[in-house]
Amino acid sequence: MPRATTKASKDGSDDHPTAAGPSSSSQHRFETLEKELEDLKAQKEKNTAEAKKIEQNKKLIEDAVKIEKKLYERIKMENDKQALRLHESEENERKLKSKIRDKDELIRVTKEQIEDVSQDIKTEICLNKSHSGFNDAQKLLQNLIICTVCNTNFDKSDKAPATLQCGHIACKACCNVKENKILICQSCGKSMEIEDEQSVEALPIGQAIINLLD
Ligand SMILES: [Zn+2]
Ligand SMILES: [Zn+2]
Repeated sequence: MPRATTKASKDGSDDHPTAAGPSSSSQHRFETLEKELEDLKAQKEKNTAEAKKIEQNKKLIEDAVKIEKKLYERIKMENDKQALRLHESEENERKLKSKIRDKDELIRVTKEQIEDVSQDIKTEICLNKSHSGFNDAQKLLQNLIICTVCNTNFDKSDKAPATLQCGHIACKACCNVKENKILICQSCGKSMEIEDEQSVEALPIGQAIINLLD
């Protein structure tokens, strides 16, 4: 290396060592270099310490970020859960409302059905009433045109309805006059004096009953 050779020759001419040691300028340079080295060492240590500190800070920040992240995850999870719960409760509320609507509808329909049935029953009762009234009237009519003694229908001739003194009505055939000319009402047991068969013919005829026979 030509430069190194040149430098070496220059150094050799300017700072050649003496018996006492290196020249003062060389000593000074050495001290300066030593000092610079010390400074550099100190700087290096300082840098190392700072690097360590930075590393520590970095770790602290990383830990903090980790904690923050975990916290965020937890909060997010909690929020998600809450959102889900809210959604579920809303869904439940919706279902419940729908159920209530269904029940209301069922109640309405049932009420209508009950009203219909009740109306039917009322109509039925009315019909039955009028029917039973009709039956009663018919029964009454049947009783009116039947002789209560022989249980046969009155007619306009032999079994004409004869009105007795007691007010009861029997067919002429049942108005038997006994030997002692006594006629006994079969309905009430009252006895009445009758002259003869002819007088039975003379008993008043229930014309209203005759009219019913037609
Ligand atoms: Zn009779
Ligand atoms: Zn009588």
